[in-house]
Amino acid sequence: MKTIAQISAELQGYDPQALTCPDVNLFLSKLVTPVTGTDSVHLFDALGRVLAQDIISSISVPPHDNSAMDGYAFDGAQLSAQVQLTLKVVGTAMAGKAWQGTVAAGECVKIMTGAIMPLGLDTVVPQELARSVGSMADPQITIPAGLLQAGDNRRKLGEDLLQGRAALQKGELLTPAALGLLASLGIEKVTVWRRLRVAYFSTGDEILSLGEAPREGAVFDSNRYTIFGLLKRLGCDVIDMGVVRDDPALLEAAFTRAAAEADAVITSGGVSVGEADHTKTMMKKLGDVAFWKIAMRPGRPMAVGRISGIKFASSPDEICVDSYNVDSIKSTPRQAILFGLPGNPVAVMVTFLAFVRPALLQMMGCNAGQPPLLKACSVEAIRKKPGRTEYQRGTVSTGADGALVVRTTGNQGSGVLSSMVQANGLIVLHHQQSNVGVGDEVDVMMFDGVI
Ligand code: AMP
Ligand code: MG
Repeated sequence: MKTIAQISAELQGYDPQALTCPDVNLFLSKLVTPVTGTDSVHLFDALGRVLAQDIISSISVPPHDNSAMDGYAFDGAQLSAQVQLTLKVVGTAMAGKAWQGTVAAGECVKIMTGAIMPLGLDTVVPQELARSVGSMADPQITIPAGLLQAGDNRRKLGEDLLQGRAALQKGELLTPAALGLLASLGIEKVTVWRRLRVAYFSTGDEILSLGEAPREGAVFDSNRYTIFGLLKRLGCDVIDMGVVRDDPALLEAAFTRAAAEADAVITSGGVSVGEADHTKTMMKKLGDVAFWKIAMRPGRPMAVGRISGIKFASSPDEICVDSYNVDSIKSTPRQAILFGLPGNPVAVMVTFLAFVRPALLQMMGCNAGQPPLLKACSVEAIRKKPGRTEYQRGTVSTGADGALVVRTTGNQGSGVLSSMVQANGLIVLHHQQSNVGVGDEVDVMMFDGVI
């Protein structure tokens, strides 16, 4: 495990007071390590989990050549571009059982979608393209010339998955499609990495928990709820530790406890320049912590590192433990990764998406890094100073010509959470990028399924 100092030494030109966003991602990728424990879960419990094993196909899917259409199967070698083909129908192949019998030249078999292709046949003419001729006693079809090629409308053995080949790889996030793929191989249970446990709390004397009486100068805690939602979307086990006052002793107790219970601890507030230095002194005491000023907007201040925790006796009424078995981790002192996020509600979400999410995915054992950025044309001019990364809330839609366009949600204040609700993505204006003109292409990090 590398210390903050060791990682810092590896980063060229590392300056904790002017870190670029890509450097933050690089730093965090060196700081975190994947979990090691695994669970064996049924497919119905595997959605969103991360595979801890390679899946090798034990069978081929489909297991036989079969028909992709309802129609007539025949030997495609008889097709000619100039002359129509007339075939005698000698039987019917139903899905679910092999058709027994041989088919000679000039003959075909009526076949249902999914039925095994009879021996020697490689082509299917869809029912609607074949013309019935002949009689009830002597059914025949004709296939117009030039319509088909040999091999048409046949699904080949193993065209989806071939026996002995890798079907899914360790580190893949199990999507609905992946669950279906596993099922198609007859697999009922898979080994996945254990869920990541993430504790979070809000800090600030002015922060009210829901249910508390409003008072002048105080605001309701929104960060705990956005963080909760973001973590749940990632499939983490969450430990909600409430709001902690700006009091070093209370903060120290909260950090120590959180670090003992969780793999990662996320806090909001208390890391900005204006905050009392005792918070920073206290965090430093608990572990190996760096305080960064990141060249970005919104965001900027962030504390990152490893903190140590001591196990306290758990009392469920103090911490809300969600789908999380406290007894299973009665353990020795532990270390947790700390993400001390800024307090402003939008800055919390942006720093989470840009830095925390990829780091947590890595801790979850997942191969997927940042989601790909989408390109869309800005319908408006956006002012941008080179030398920092800016994330603007944006709404992507399809323009009149079918191309993607994006507009900002207006007020980009870092406390304007309503615009985070309106937006469907973040416009990413990169470090060196300058002003954006009307019609210029910009990168967008879409929210789909993430927030
Ligand atoms: P701080 O980083 O602690 O200086 O907080 C920056 C701003 O974010 C202040 O206006 C805080 O009131 C606000 N803020 C901090 N934490 C929360 C929270 N949990 N929910 C809503 N607003 C918050
Ligand atoms: Mg504060």
